Amino acid sequence: MVVYNLICRKKHQFEGWFPSFEDFQKQADKKLISCPTCGSKRVEKMPHACAVHVKKDQPAPPKKVEQPAATPPTPPTPPSPAEFKEMLLHVHHYIKENFEDVGSRFAEEARQIHQGKVKERAIHGTATPKETAELAEEGVPFIALPKPELDS
Ligand SMILES: [Zn+2]
Repeated sequence: MVVYNLICRKKHQFEGWFPSFEDFQKQADKKLISCPTCGSKRVEKMPHACAVHVKKDQPAPPKKVEQPAATPPTPPTPPSPAEFKEMLLHVHHYIKENFEDVGSRFAEEARQIHQGKVKERAIHGTATPKETAELAEEGVPFIALPKPELDS
């Protein structure tokens, strides 16, 4: 799952969640992404935050010399528990909207999809630690997400 900061032609910024970069690309090509504020389908991915963090008054380095970066980009600060919870809620909401709920059959369905026995699709559900361990052993791709505390 990837998150992109998107911007429409009217400069509204919003967040888009996609299963992968390829999915984002496909949806963008088909103009399936629209701005939640104005509905514009002219949506672009914003450059990464640290890529635009450049001092304007700095002279451009000479072109022929490969300048090593003076300071490495600051790693993003880890999210606070509240932000992390917010993120989780976001992800869970996305999954509910876009993934088929297979409940406790998750391990079985994931395995069958992996083996090509059933049509490939996005699913979510629950699995016991034993089941997830088995899936991992068989090389079945899945992501385990902690459940957000919805009642606090
Ligand atoms: Zn807009």
